[in-house]
Amino acid sequence: MRTFGIILVVILGLIGLTFVAGRGGHESYDSKTFKPGPVIGMVKGLSDDALEGRQTGTEGAKRAREMIISRLQALELLKVGNSYAHPYELDLEGQTVEGVNLIGVIGGTAKSRDRIVITAHYDHLGTKDGEIYNGADDNASGVAGLLAIAEHFKRRKSPPKHTLMFVFFDNEDAMKAGSKAFMAEPPLPQKQLAFNLSLDQLARAEDGVFWTSGAALAPTLTPVMERVSKEAPLDLKQLAANGNDLANGLVEADLPYIALRASGAETTPDATDTFDNLHQDTFLKSVETAVMVAQAIDNQLEDLLGLPPLPSQEE
Ligand SMILES: [Zn+2]
Repeated sequence: MRTFGIILVVILGLIGLTFVAGRGGHESYDSKTFKPGPVIGMVKGLSDDALEGRQTGTEGAKRAREMIISRLQALELLKVGNSYAHPYELDLEGQTVEGVNLIGVIGGTAKSRDRIVITAHYDHLGTKDGEIYNGADDNASGVAGLLAIAEHFKRRKSPPKHTLMFVFFDNEDAMKAGSKAFMAEPPLPQKQLAFNLSLDQLARAEDGVFWTSGAALAPTLTPVMERVSKEAPLDLKQLAANGNDLANGLVEADLPYIALRASGAETTPDATDTFDNLHQDTFLKSVETAVMVAQAIDNQLEDLLGLPPLPSQEE
């Protein structure tokens, strides 16, 4: 009986250890391209109850913007005009509400007019029946992913060849209002917008797979995605040719794009989308994969778009 008791204690201990390991502290995945601390901290901060689900036009959305802007300042991204904030008006059930997109820029080193626009929405559903919809996966994770890409290009002494424009959309999930407002008055001539990389819901790659859409619409993208997939911590699988359901309003302007979403994110958003339910290890692998996709697009944009190669950088 006593032996049985000891065995039981050992078994329970092992189960406990497995559980802890499975949850994955943020130290467990060692990223090569960004520091995990600020990335995890951004998701935690944006999905905090105090922000009440970041609904457009609320104090919570304003606080979300303050967090993102302080990170854009720390990373020294450039502004378009005199502010990171780009407000626009939208009609929400008969009421005029102010939506605010955020834009930060990293200048490219090559003589190219082609800009890569990297996008994620920061808004979420607010509260419903007294429950906060925190939106940790949807889409605090994508916002943190964008900032990790920015950190990669700013801090690792690997500036991009092409100018990168990071855009954080407001009111995107429900109405695609943020991306439509961006395209209605683009901050630079529309023909200079060459490509869109879109991140939405990065945190739930339950079977280690990342969905991409967009590649099937542009055959030149397929080999690039296959190469990234071989190196990246997650597999990249393409959605079907008409699978542009992950895309945003930029696609309506015929912009070539890649949209990334973790494979386990098919479920409808609900109040369980909290920071505590996020698998940090998987999330960090998703972010690293997204950084690698961004790097590949910058490296090979001319190939992707069927343009002549860039002139040599030496003057
Ligand atoms: Zn979303």
